[in-house]
Amino acid sequence: MESFSRKKFLLTSGIIGAGLLLPDFLHAAAKSSNTKKRVLRVAHITDMHVQPEGAATRGMANCLHQIQSLSDKPDFIINTGDCIMDALGREKSNVKAQWETWNGLLKNENSLEIYSSIGNHDIWGWSGLSARRTDKHYGKQWAAEMLGLKNRYYSFDKNNWHFVVLDSMTHVPFGYTAKLDGEQFDWLKEDLANTPKNKFVCVLSHIPILAACVFYDGNNVKSGNWKVPGAWMHKDSKKIKTLFSEHTNVKAALSGHIHLIDEVAYSGVNYYCNGAASGGWWKGDYHEFPPAFCVMNFYDDGSTEREVHFYNWKA
Ligand SMILES: [Zn+2]
Repeated sequence: MESFSRKKFLLTSGIIGAGLLLPDFLHAAAKSSNTKKRVLRVAHITDMHVQPEGAATRGMANCLHQIQSLSDKPDFIINTGDCIMDALGREKSNVKAQWETWNGLLKNENSLEIYSSIGNHDIWGWSGLSARRTDKHYGKQWAAEMLGLKNRYYSFDKNNWHFVVLDSMTHVPFGYTAKLDGEQFDWLKEDLANTPKNKFVCVLSHIPILAACVFYDGNNVKSGNWKVPGAWMHKDSKKIKTLFSEHTNVKAALSGHIHLIDEVAYSGVNYYCNGAASGGWWKGDYHEFPPAFCVMNFYDDGSTEREVHFYNWKA
C-alpha cells in the first residue's frame, strides 16, 4: 500500500513536473537564443612558436589561412603570445630570424586586424648571459617593437566589449614568474574603473589568471601535495580575481601558455585556456590536444561561447 502510494505520488508529481517545468525550460532556452545577439566573432591564436626550421612556417600559414577561410569569418584576431620559438635563451641573430619569420607570415598570409600580447618566449635574454642587458633590445622591448605595441599592456574597445591586454611576465633571476608588476596592476585598476558599466570586459594574458589544466601539465603532485609552479599560472590570481569581483562587467579571460585547453567558470568570469597553434611545438599533439586555434563569439548580454578548431596544420 505504502509503496503503491509512493509510486503513484512519484508518477503524478513527475507528470505534473514535466507538464509545468518542461515548457518553461524550453521557453527560457528559446527566449535566450532569440534575444541575445552576437556582436563580435574573434579568432584567438596563442603559442605559435614560429621559427624558420621545421614545420612551423607552413603550419602557421595553414592556421592563418584556415581562420580566414571560415565560412563565418572572424572580425579580427587576438594573439596571446609566444609568437616565436624562443628568445629567452637564444643568440640575437637567431632571434632576429625568428621575428622575420613571424612578421613575414603576418604580412603575406594574413589580412585580418590583429591585437597581440607578449609571451614569455618572446622576451630576449632573460635566461641568457647578463652581458646582453646593455643591449637596447634586451627584455620585452624588442618583442613590443616586433608586435607593433606602443606599450606592453593596453586596452581597446570593439562594439560593446572592452578588451584588456596584459603583460603576464615579471623578471626573476634567469627567467620569469607570472605576476603583474605594481605599475601595471594600478593601471588595470584604473582601466576597469574607467570602463562604463554597460560595456563588457574580456581580459587577455599569455599566462592563465586561473586554469584547471595547470594541474595536468607535468607530474606536479609527486611531492605528495599539488604544486603548481609560479611560471604556469598567475601568482597574483587571488588579487586579480578580487579586483574582477568589484567589476561585474568583467566576463571573460583568455590565455595560452600551457598548450592545453580548458574552461573555468569562477564568480561570474569565464577563464578560457585556449591550447596552442603549435600543439607540441609543431610535432603533433600535446597531451590530448592537437594544434588548435579558437574562435570566440561575444554577445550583447555579456556571454561568450568558444569554438575549438583542430585545424589541418599539415595541409
Ligand atoms: Zn608561454
